[in-house]
Amino acid sequence: MLFHNIAIYRENNTVAQNQFVGVEGAYIRYVGDTPPKKDFGPLIDGKDKLLLPAFYNAHAHTPMTILRGYGENMALSDWLTKKIFPFEAKLTPEMVRNSTLLGIAEMFRGGVVAATDMYFFGEAIMEAFAESGAKLNLSLGTVCFDQRGFYELPDYQENEYLFRQWHGAADGRLLVDMSIHGEYTSSAKVVAEVASYAKEKNCRMQLHLSETKKEHEECIGRHGKTPARYFYDHGLFDVPTTAAHCVWLSEEDMTLLAEKDVTVATCPVSNMKLASGIADLPAMLKKKLQIALGTDGASSNNSLSMFDDMKSLALVQRVGSGDPAALAPEEVLSFATVNGARSQGRSDCGLIKEGCRADLTLINTASLHFYPRQQLINHLIYAADNSDVVMTVVDGKIVYDHGDFPTIDTEKVMFQVERDFDAVLKAL
Ligand SMILES: [Zn+2]
Repeated sequence: MLFHNIAIYRENNTVAQNQFVGVEGAYIRYVGDTPPKKDFGPLIDGKDKLLLPAFYNAHAHTPMTILRGYGENMALSDWLTKKIFPFEAKLTPEMVRNSTLLGIAEMFRGGVVAATDMYFFGEAIMEAFAESGAKLNLSLGTVCFDQRGFYELPDYQENEYLFRQWHGAADGRLLVDMSIHGEYTSSAKVVAEVASYAKEKNCRMQLHLSETKKEHEECIGRHGKTPARYFYDHGLFDVPTTAAHCVWLSEEDMTLLAEKDVTVATCPVSNMKLASGIADLPAMLKKKLQIALGTDGASSNNSLSMFDDMKSLALVQRVGSGDPAALAPEEVLSFATVNGARSQGRSDCGLIKEGCRADLTLINTASLHFYPRQQLINHLIYAADNSDVVMTVVDGKIVYDHGDFPTIDTEKVMFQVERDFDAVLKAL
């Protein structure tokens, strides 16, 4: 396909008008201000459009769309133990598959092509991402409340299977990561064993880190060290890691994470909704920490909209720092795009550039809130929303197009998730 006469967001964080972008197979093969000599097939008119690199959701629990709106207005620990865990115990793989498809459709609608995801029933999630065309870094969110080691847990067998069946599948769209759900939901033995298993598999790591003050302080009480120091000492960060939340990091924690090139997946909407606090991004950026952006699960957000999270991040960082210039819009956009791709190990994704994979979001700039159209990137962060996305492309394949989802039967999926939700409630 060829996007012609279109405004594009370039690698140098500026908008260039009247460009041509040629896509062949999964890749961008031409970017220029004159028409390419080569025929790229179907033409896509760029009038009143802005072509962006797609969004990469750096921390999600996609299947949790089924829990949207369930157990509202509670503290994280109570919410997890009294509402979420009992509900999740009743889920089946089929339900997880359905709710995953719902979440993927919602992400496509908002220009999101990939998720760093942590949940159970891994194969059901892999199947949903595989058939939808989306990209996935899946981890199982290993949890252990007893004396068993990792190799005695069902997660070990399931991970072995997932690595064999799915790691690198669909031309690298689907990847298996390892994870520890959190310090407070596992033992030191499991943490150390998951760390060494991940090194053996040469994969990436995901975890929740210092999300709440309670979690952070109770870890210091239990181990005499912060969660970051605890995981660092167990070797968990020896593979490329994405640490979600990081609201309560100490300065020393940030130094440790920077030393290990850990990406912080900040989740501002979730952190505000659960009153977890404000992550200190200015301090992290001073330490040269990589920042990416995540929505977290639909039960603590409650949408999977990266637009909501971009705007919320920009606003809350200003409130938190008292600096009305904190975080430039271009910086926020890079967290949601190229930094997210990098945090998933997708070094050829996240930019509109020849040789990069064609993961693209097409924005209609002819809507009311884009006028006057002088500061498009400002408008994207502060005025735009999912409804401005008219097309989403993953690896050169159109997965959302002006209301149509070519890879997902959304009517069916909405019906199924509602039915599944009722079935779980009845079984509780
Ligand atoms: Zn999470």
